[in-house]
Amino acid sequence: MTDASHCSAELIERVNVSASLAIFRFSVASRLSFSAGQFATIGIAADGDVIERPYSIVSSPHEPFLEFFVELVPGGILTPKLWELKLGSAILVRRRIVGQLTLDSTVHRHLMMATVTGVAPFVSILRTQQIDRAGGAASNHQLVVIHGASRAADFGPYLSELEELSHAGWLTYIPTISRPWKEPNWKGETGRVEDIVRKHADQLGLDHGNSVAYACGHPQMVANVKDILKRACFLKDQIKEEEYFTLHDSRSHK
Ligand SMILES: Cc1cc2nc3c(=O)[nH]c(=O)nc-3n(C[C@H](O)[C@H](O)[C@H](O)COP(=O)(O)OP(=O)(O)OC[C@H]3O[C@@H](n4cnc5c(N)ncnc54)[C@H](O)[C@@H]3O)c2cc1C
Repeated sequence: MTDASHCSAELIERVNVSASLAIFRFSVASRLSFSAGQFATIGIAADGDVIERPYSIVSSPHEPFLEFFVELVPGGILTPKLWELKLGSAILVRRRIVGQLTLDSTVHRHLMMATVTGVAPFVSILRTQQIDRAGGAASNHQLVVIHGASRAADFGPYLSELEELSHAGWLTYIPTISRPWKEPNWKGETGRVEDIVRKHADQLGLDHGNSVAYACGHPQMVANVKDILKRACFLKDQIKEEEYFTLHDSRSHK
C-alpha cells in the first residue's frame, strides 16, 4: 500500500549487532529529501492497518539507501515485526522526513551525546561531513561525540567507523561503557555519558560561548545532560534533543 504520503522500501541488508540491536538498510523506491540528523517514519502493514514509528536515519542524504540502528523492544508493537523482516521484504516510509537534530551552522563546535542507537543522527551528520569534505567542500566544524552503552558490543560497527573518522582531526569520538567490570580489556572511557560530559567538554574547550549541544536517545540521559549543561550556562536554544521514548514506563538507564 503506497499513497501520496508514503513510498515503499525494500530491506537490502541487515546486520545483527546483538540479540536486541540490529542495523537495517533499505532501498527506497523514490529518492527522499532530508537533512542529516533527521528521522523517518516507517511503517509495516499488519491486520489491514499500518503500524508506524519514527527512526533516526543513520545514512547520509548522499547515500543511496536508508539505514537505521534499532533496538528490539520486548513486547513492543513494531520492533518485533521489524525483526521478522527478510531480505526483500517491503516496508512503508513516509515521504515527509523531519527532525531538529541537524547541524547548527551558526557555531563551529558541536557537543553530541548519545546512548546506543541515539548515535544514529550523529553518524548521518558525520558521514555527510566526510563526504562533503572529500568532495572539496570547506568546513570548519569540530565535532565531539560521546557515545554511551552498557557494553562495548552495543556500539556495533559504529565504534570502528567513528574511530576511523576521528583520525581526520575534525571529530573527537568518545565511546564510554557503564559496566566496565564486565569488560576488563576495555581501554576507553567508563561511566555514563552524563558522568563524563563536563570533564571532556572542559578539556576540549567547549562551552556555552562557542558550542551547541545535542542529546539523543534514552530520556534519562537527555534529562541529566540538560541539567548539567544548564548549570554550565548553556541556554535552552543551545541544547538540541531527541528522546526516543518516555520515561514513565520504560526500562532503567543502564
Ligand atoms: C524522533 C524519534 C526517533 C527515534 N529513533 C529511533 C532509532 O533510531 N532507533 C530506535 O531503536 N528507536 C528509535 N525511536 C524509538 C522508536 O520510535 C520506537 O518507539 C521503538 O522502536 C519502540 O517501538 P515498538 O513499536 O516496538 O514499541 P512500542 O509498542 O511503541 O512501545 C512499547 C513500550 O516500550 C517503551 N519503549 C520504546 N522504545 C524503548 C526503548 N528503546 N527502550 C526502552 N523502552 C522503550 C515505550 O515507551 C512503550 O512503553 C525513536 C523515537 C523518536 C521519537
